[in-house]
Amino acid sequence: MKTYIVGNWKMNLSVGESSIYLQKLLKRIKLAKGLEVAIAPSTIALQSLSVQLERSKSKIKLCAQNFYQKDYGAYTGEVSVMQLRGIVNYSIVGHSERRYIFGETNKDLRQKVAAAIRNNITPILCVGETENERSYGETKDVLRDEIFGALSEIDADDVKKVIIAYEPVWAISSTKDAKIASPDDIADSVKLIRSELKEIYGKEVSEEVPILYGGSVNPNNAGAYLTIPGVNGLLIGGSSLISDHFVDIIEIAKRVKS
Ligand code: PEP
Repeated sequence: MKTYIVGNWKMNLSVGESSIYLQKLLKRIKLAKGLEVAIAPSTIALQSLSVQLERSKSKIKLCAQNFYQKDYGAYTGEVSVMQLRGIVNYSIVGHSERRYIFGETNKDLRQKVAAAIRNNITPILCVGETENERSYGETKDVLRDEIFGALSEIDADDVKKVIIAYEPVWAISSTKDAKIASPDDIADSVKLIRSELKEIYGKEVSEEVPILYGGSVNPNNAGAYLTIPGVNGLLIGGSSLISDHFVDIIEIAKRVKS
């Protein structure tokens, strides 16, 4: 299975700044076999960055941060995943900021996962418990609910086109009083996710779904996180905005996974 390093820039960097950042990456990154690197700039920068990547013949991929689940129509202000075809290879779906700030529900996410697959774009489905849910011992139930909620209409062939990102909300750097997740915490949750997938799709299929970890990843902890059994890559927020850090994490991934 490939190793995925995905940078989520959230609502940061102008179009010009995004292009300068990408230029730096293009100069510094040498991709290795089995390593997939993707960046998720804001929607307005996707088109120009895709041209920049095409001109440089780089294998770095683009990832959307979000989209609307209908393919087209009277949905003022929205961008559909169909409109993103040919521009991005991936899209984040159900990031906790979408769930908790914008009120996205399991039903929305079920439709988004289906829309992404229908349009040949790989959804990176984010799941993870809040601090409260964790303290009440509800992690397993939350993960089950979020996985089943988003994937219940996806069959075994299509689930192989999905990536899951385990992002405990309490470990995301922008969460108030965020904590650093220990490799043991992550290993337990990744096992739960894998066993949930196994229950729905069977062992063989469950082992083909990449699971990424995201939450306060930086160059100091990336190596430890990448060696957790069952972790196939990282989804990085804050640290991916610093190009030196993102490049360092990519180098670490090359070493750890080679
Ligand atoms: C994220 O929000 O997806 C994330 C992982 O953020 P950070 O790395 O800043 O914790």
